[in-house]
Amino acid sequence: MNWYQLRINDVLQKLETSKEGLTEKDAKERLTRFGTNKLAEEEKISKIKILLHQFISPLIYILLVAALVTFLLKEYTDASVIIAVVILNAIIGYIQEFKAERSVRALKRMLTPRTKVLRDGHEKEINSEVLVPGDIVLLASGSKVPADIRLLKTIELKIDEAMLTGESIPVNKITSPIREDSLTPGDQTNMAFTGTIVVSGRGRGIVAETGNRTVLGQIAKNVREAVKTKTPLQARLERFAKIIGIIIVGFSGILFSIGVFLHGMDITEMFMAAVATAVSAIPEGLPIAVTVTMAIGVSRMARRNAIIRKLPAVETLGSTTIICSDKTGTLTKNEMTVKLVYDEDHIYEVTGTGYEPKGEILRDEIPVELKDKESLLRVFRIGLLCNESNIYLEDSQYKVEGDPTEGALIVSAIKGGLNPEEERKIYPQIAIIPFESEHGYMATLNKHHNKKYIFIKGAPEKIIEMCTQFKTNNISQKKEILQIANTFAKKGLRVLAFAYKEAPDDMEELAHRDINLGLTLAGLQGMFDPPRPEVIQAIEECKQAGIGTVMITGDHAITAVSIAKELGIGGHDARVYTGKELETMSDEELFQAVKDVSVYARVSPEHKLRITNQLIKHGEIVAVTGDGVNDAPALKAAHIGIAMGKTGTDVAKEASDVVLADDNFASIFAAVEEGRVVYDNIKKVTLFLVSCGFGELIAILTTVSMGLHIPYTPVQILWLNIVTNGLQDVALAFDPPEKGILQRPPRHPRERFLNGIMIQKILIMGFIMAAGTVLLYIFNLMMGAPLKEARTEALTTMVVFQFYQAFNCRSERRSIFRMNPLKNPFLFFSMIAAIFAHLAVLYVPALQWIFGTVPLTKTEWAGIGVVTITIVIAVEIEKFIRRLRRRKTVFE
Ligand code: ATP
Repeated sequence: MNWYQLRINDVLQKLETSKEGLTEKDAKERLTRFGTNKLAEEEKISKIKILLHQFISPLIYILLVAALVTFLLKEYTDASVIIAVVILNAIIGYIQEFKAERSVRALKRMLTPRTKVLRDGHEKEINSEVLVPGDIVLLASGSKVPADIRLLKTIELKIDEAMLTGESIPVNKITSPIREDSLTPGDQTNMAFTGTIVVSGRGRGIVAETGNRTVLGQIAKNVREAVKTKTPLQARLERFAKIIGIIIVGFSGILFSIGVFLHGMDITEMFMAAVATAVSAIPEGLPIAVTVTMAIGVSRMARRNAIIRKLPAVETLGSTTIICSDKTGTLTKNEMTVKLVYDEDHIYEVTGTGYEPKGEILRDEIPVELKDKESLLRVFRIGLLCNESNIYLEDSQYKVEGDPTEGALIVSAIKGGLNPEEERKIYPQIAIIPFESEHGYMATLNKHHNKKYIFIKGAPEKIIEMCTQFKTNNISQKKEILQIANTFAKKGLRVLAFAYKEAPDDMEELAHRDINLGLTLAGLQGMFDPPRPEVIQAIEECKQAGIGTVMITGDHAITAVSIAKELGIGGHDARVYTGKELETMSDEELFQAVKDVSVYARVSPEHKLRITNQLIKHGEIVAVTGDGVNDAPALKAAHIGIAMGKTGTDVAKEASDVVLADDNFASIFAAVEEGRVVYDNIKKVTLFLVSCGFGELIAILTTVSMGLHIPYTPVQILWLNIVTNGLQDVALAFDPPEKGILQRPPRHPRERFLNGIMIQKILIMGFIMAAGTVLLYIFNLMMGAPLKEARTEALTTMVVFQFYQAFNCRSERRSIFRMNPLKNPFLFFSMIAAIFAHLAVLYVPALQWIFGTVPLTKTEWAGIGVVTITIVIAVEIEKFIRRLRRRKTVFE
């Protein structure tokens, strides 16, 4: 017999479980017996692969060829030094990439899906991986089915099984056994299969199979996501490095020709010089430094509660110009407390805060006697019974299990004197239509003595429209009640209306058509959801950073505007559009409108998608938040889709680029800041590596053109690269955010990476370094210094130049005297280590022999000091001019 053929009781028996679920102890024991609920073992991080990866780069190929040729020319020291450089580069790359990979994996683990189950008789959320056969699982719209499940209860449950069966229409699920033999999964309509998606409704079922024993596991479809994607910037930079490589090889060829053909220099020496040039100028550290910068960004963002799912987001975040955010839970705390109640006679105030069921019902500030307030109690009762949630005490704090809106209604009912357990006993629930945003209401069928009632609650416009009976049955009453709902909303309250009707005795199920008409209104409740205090500041900072904030909410327009004002969204007269208005607008009209609207209310996910698309058309870089199943298209359409970690559905998370661990808007802003830091730091690394390489190249080219010996031997050039570039480029990746990073406008998305400023800087810096080194070199030779001595001084000059360069590159405009060098201790100490290493090369005899150096005299040191400081002075002047120019453009 197959699971789908068995009756529910037989399934329960066979799996030795009950409708109340397993105990934790039993589940633990089963976990060792059945294994974790994972599809395929996660691939281990392959160390060899990462190590080999370090050698797969055109830049490294050039170095290896150079080493081989040098070896054939019997220049053994040079050959070994080149190999040493390659190995050192690989080691640094390996360590950094391994670390990066490990942290990315750790982040991935943070994102493992969770599932609601019944254990020890309670509803609990657990990691889907520890699910075992026999567990009772609760499914709701948006969740991904975590195992193969035999359903035992369904409420309008529809599941999208396209990934398993190819059928794109969601399947209506049932619970009764099916007789037929050998049905395909697509026809087993009382089962829910791993990996499929709940599109709407609710369900409850028994886990029948887990892990590789599920249908999906058996097809052995590999659902592991593509792990490695390169970000556009990474790809561009790799291309850039390749082009530079080619250019440099070309240059080396020219150098060789000039030396040999023009000046008749020794072929071997010239060949070695050409190799040395290529090796020195090639920014072999660039790809690693970029990977590391990204990885650092990813982990910094994670620390600030934004978990990156797709790497390109790290880069895009930095250029975000608009954040479209949900209201409830993201901008506000999603901690609802009912403040006002209306029962068609009077408005009452409810005291108390949070979910602690302590408070009073006041009328005109005087506590009311509740016993004879039948109509008021009815409002509370419907709120309590038309409800899927619960409140419970944990660590002496009251918490909600389920929807905070519903939690608040339970609390207000208790404050109104109702006892939830008693009420649920005398009004047992028979059927339910769960709340879904697109319907805007929820309903239950309850029994009371010999009668049945339908209770319904939802958005006031919706409910009041469905009501035909009011207390006074006055036509104007509808309007009046809507007006009262509006006065509640003006105070920033989320308003729900409550209604009921008697149902036929034989009614057992509930469908939307049963409640469309003939309802009697009971009243309203208005609840407050406090804005998150940190969000007010984040929105203000967004403004300064040139980022617009747009609120897109399912709540009422008046409530939305009131909260928007409190948060500072859209200034004083925040314009608001409702979903209804959007319906009547063409895309063209919406395109015009989105420019100056910052609040959208009562919108559906399709509207969110339209708004996103129109903003994108304006050239904005748009980040959009979402949590529901239907938010997936908008999340995908946006440049950055952000899903809620706590309240988001699996579907939303899978469609997103970033998941917010704390659902908080402020964390989005933090991620944007880190995104800017990543981009800045990649720029710093590039500027540093390319300008230094350029300087070295020009210096060699100049001397060779003049018919002189090159100013440093190949071994010395390689040494130069090890001491000055080996760690410093990676250290720059760790640079903290520059001051004012959030006061400047977002980077233009189409801004070229190597923009005008960068190129100017590379030229200025490169020429100064080359000029300084060559002049000192020629001066020494002219003064009769031996070649070895002149070269040692030239080499040291370059080392000191590049020492300054690491600090110069830390900011585009800020003076180095205004930046604390200790803010980046990694950089600072790697520089100190580099200086000591170079002193060793100058003064330790064995190293002198390898590198062909001689000790320098005090006068020579003084000369180096004077010449090298010019790079600091020049760059300071350049930065000063840039600051002046910017100030001018700001004032114009
Ligand atoms: P946001 O988009 O800002 O996060 P939201 O998603 O919370 O808002 P919805 O959940 O779609 O918005 O709620 C829209 C309206 O539906 C609310 O204003 C309220 O009137 C009503 N509503 C919300 N929750 C429930 C519920 N559990 N039962 C009945 N009606 C509800």
